[in-house]
Amino acid sequence: MAEDFRMENRLLLSYGHTLVEFADGCVDGGGLIPGVHEVGAVVPCPDCAGEHCVSSAMVVATAHNVTISEVEQQDEPGR
Ligand SMILES: [Zn+2]
Repeated sequence: MAEDFRMENRLLLSYGHTLVEFADGCVDGGGLIPGVHEVGAVVPCPDCAGEHCVSSAMVVATAHNVTISEVEQQDEPGR
């Protein structure tokens, strides 16, 4: 499945993963899975070989153009 890229607030985002909870199946249930899914969909489980029905779905954006720059530690005054 092709990822859907878009620019928002100067961030290049793609909505390629969904944070899900499962209505049935695993005790741990759910997690972050590839693709965009809706409640009621049956998807392969990340934790076992089975498939489960999605009870809760939140599509997660991934930012692709973020650069982490180190912040210089400043000495606290008064020491
Ligand atoms: Zn499972």
